[in-house]
Amino acid sequence: MNNRIKKQKKIALIAHDNRKTDLISWVKKNNIILGKHFLCGTGTTSKLISEETSLPVKPYRSGPLGGDQQIGAAIVDGEVDFMIFFWDPLTSQPHDPDVKALLRIAVLFDIPVAMNQSSADFLLNSSFMDEEYEKNVVDYTNTIVK
Ligand code: PGA
Repeated sequence: MNNRIKKQKKIALIAHDNRKTDLISWVKKNNIILGKHFLCGTGTTSKLISEETSLPVKPYRSGPLGGDQQIGAAIVDGEVDFMIFFWDPLTSQPHDPDVKALLRIAVLFDIPVAMNQSSADFLLNSSFMDEEYEKNVVDYTNTIVK
């Protein structure tokens, strides 16, 4: 498995409905830095970001329709190695189990994740944004009882 996050990150952008405006404003504010990386996201979030900025964003399905699970699978496959996910702390979602699964996979594969604006600002302004980074993915193979 390749545990290296390259200089050019593969960033997933996701926001629940009540958080989309904040994510879009954050993306607009940071469009120069974000433009240096590959962007993808859940369906509606990607569409809105593409419409409101000049940034290309590869769309997956809408979150409640399987998009979160697709992004989780993309993390497993190394197609996503960085995630900005503004989830809504005040509203339960029909796809809460998918959200939980996505966050679990992000931790398992040791990818950087920001879930609010200040974390996103800190991540994007990290010196690691301009470097390669070796992740620490725990090898659980030997913990599986056969
Ligand atoms: P959406 O999905 O971008 O398609 O709205 C976000 C989510 O709820 O995970």
